[in-house]
Amino acid sequence: MRILVVEDDATLRAQLAQAIGEAGHTVEAAADGREGHYLGEVEDFDLVVLDLGLPLLDGLTVLRRWRAAGRNMPVLILTARSAWQEKVAGIDAGADDYLAKPFQMEELLARIRALLRRRSEHGSAVWQCGAIELDTRAARVLLAGQPLALTSHEFKLLSLLMQRKGEVLSRTELAEHLYAYDSERDSNTIEVFVGRLRRKLPAGSIETVRGLGYRLVDPAAGDAGA
Ligand code: CA
Repeated sequence: MRILVVEDDATLRAQLAQAIGEAGHTVEAAADGREGHYLGEVEDFDLVVLDLGLPLLDGLTVLRRWRAAGRNMPVLILTARSAWQEKVAGIDAGADDYLAKPFQMEELLARIRALLRRRSEHGSAVWQCGAIELDTRAARVLLAGQPLALTSHEFKLLSLLMQRKGEVLSRTELAEHLYAYDSERDSNTIEVFVGRLRRKLPAGSIETVRGLGYRLVDPAAGDAGA
């Protein structure tokens, strides 16, 4: 998944980016409210971790503006310990969950999993498509019950395809989810990664939809898009 972290404390920001990245997600980070607001407004994220005490534009304002603009990605806010008013204001502003600082990274990752799970139609931490099973909690993939070795790029690619099973995803969309920064985005390399991933999956799992992109299906189901 693609996750935005908005946190002004450089140490915490780096820790969050690392932990969330290691959990198999693509992370983009912003150090102030203005940049964070901009990224959340113009780019698509599956989830946002938003600190409330931010320079330039406070977190509550950022959240209210996103919601007012119809941005409905799950947002987990980070609040100061004991500031219950902040939590209430955050929930009122449209936050989906909150965590008081200081927190254990493990708890944050568990909250992120819960939010993504709630959002996903799969309703479970383990996603399935035919013989492919992706455990979002362990960031692991099984193929017919056997562990499948994937690079982190292949894992991210497969996660997105599985989350949106049956839907056609464009190369641009896949590139956005794969690379945190514009400068690294090159939709041609997506073809290479899709090709590699395809060779590791049952034949017919990733369909090429000419001119549009790719779609994950269960080849055994005989019903594309099911
Ligand atoms: Ca702060």
